Amino acid sequence: MSKLSVIGCGYLGAVHAASMAEVGHQVVGIDTDADKVALLSAGKSPFYEPGFDELLRRNVESGRLTFSTDFAAAADADVHFIGVGTPQRRDGQGADLTYVHAATDALLAVLPDHPENPSLVAGKSTVPVGTAAVLADKFAAKGAIVAWNPEFLREGFAVDDTLRPDRLVYGLPADPAQAELAEAKLDEAYAKILSGETYEGLDWSETPKVVTDYATAELVKVAANSFLATKISFINAMAEICDATGGNVTTLAEAIGYDDRIGKKFLRAGVGFGGGCLPKDIRAFQARVDELGLDDTLDFLSDIDAVNVRQRSRVVAKLADALGGSVEGKTIAVLGAAFKPDSDDIRDSPAVDVARQLAAAGADVRVTDPKAGPVVARFADDLNFVDSIDDAVTGVDAVAVLTEWKQFQQLDAAKVAELATGRIVVDGRNCLDRGNWESAGFTYLAMGR
Ligand code: NAD
Repeated sequence: MSKLSVIGCGYLGAVHAASMAEVGHQVVGIDTDADKVALLSAGKSPFYEPGFDELLRRNVESGRLTFSTDFAAAADADVHFIGVGTPQRRDGQGADLTYVHAATDALLAVLPDHPENPSLVAGKSTVPVGTAAVLADKFAAKGAIVAWNPEFLREGFAVDDTLRPDRLVYGLPADPAQAELAEAKLDEAYAKILSGETYEGLDWSETPKVVTDYATAELVKVAANSFLATKISFINAMAEICDATGGNVTTLAEAIGYDDRIGKKFLRAGVGFGGGCLPKDIRAFQARVDELGLDDTLDFLSDIDAVNVRQRSRVVAKLADALGGSVEGKTIAVLGAAFKPDSDDIRDSPAVDVARQLAAAGADVRVTDPKAGPVVARFADDLNFVDSIDDAVTGVDAVAVLTEWKQFQQLDAAKVAELATGRIVVDGRNCLDRGNWESAGFTYLAMGR
């Protein structure tokens, strides 16, 4: 068992902290947000993530997991995981590293000076290539070592993804002695996950471990997200072509997906990607590569971004067309606010963006979401949020499904028809049963099918 700290307890850090406690470590989570720390300390999750409440409560109750706003509580940890946010800069496309530097400076201030057993600082935040080397220089002043250990969890599956990651990537220092020490400390932190055992249905028999240098580890994360973003925008571009030609993108995706070099995953056309990672990561990657003087190398990511953002205005255009040329004065129910189902995260959410575009065009928009209500109230209070689907659809001219929650997929279209005034549904996620809606009298509009 090690003593670990996790600095930054948001979607990534809180789940990481609880998961590390679950596999037997003593963990302290540090965050500057006192309200978040108070909630987490009481065993209550500040966000919605399936399975997390239970994991958090269990580990807080066991005494293995504590939270604090005071960095001194982390001073004696063997490994410090850094999980603070790296959002898009307000003044550009690059990543804002303010939080990374503030957190690491605060940690540096409490670390003991050159102890016999130096601690390891393991970065998990997604950062521009080159960041780990800069931090390593900083921490050398106290004799601490830096590794980069990017995180690949998916919101909605964060607990399983953290407890049973599909790979562990260690970006280690160039100095062989430091690299050996860093690898040993990470191996100890992840001992269970690398143990080959099974645990409550999780198979730890073959967690792959990739050991590499700082730059590769930092790049693995942004390369993975750029690839995923490319896949989604590729199929969305195909959806645009299907719309223009009468093709069916769902069938097209199925047919190309049988080629296992292509695969079927991440090929569902719709209103596009959002959230706190993909959009800002592809922009930050381009900005970093430009800084490196490789100006043209990632130009294609601008197109990927543009295809993605265009899907949002395509939904608005489809609604306007169906409503006689304009949404002005029309009442529209937007089903979904979270950027994906099983999450309450609305950062760069396509659903929120579409709702705002509709409102800006003069529509009376009602948004509902099974879990994101409190987050909308806090961060998007310009939206008219209603708590139930019934309230959202009563008397509306059109319904737009923009997050593929099960609750929306399983809606009884005949019941919606009783409540709504109009008979238009836009399936922004290609997730509805077309027959169900058409037989209830709706004009069904989808993305490329
Ligand atoms: P988040 O905004 O939910 O959490 C960040 C946390 O850091 C917040 O609780 C904030 O209060 C805290 N913080 C900010 N400054 C701090 C400081 N100086 N000291 C201590 N705490 C501080 O963000 P997130 O979604 O958890 O993402 C964190 C990082 O992980 C980002 O780099 C992101 O790209 C990466 N990541 C996120 C996911 C995901 O699915 N959310 C997946 C993989 C990687």
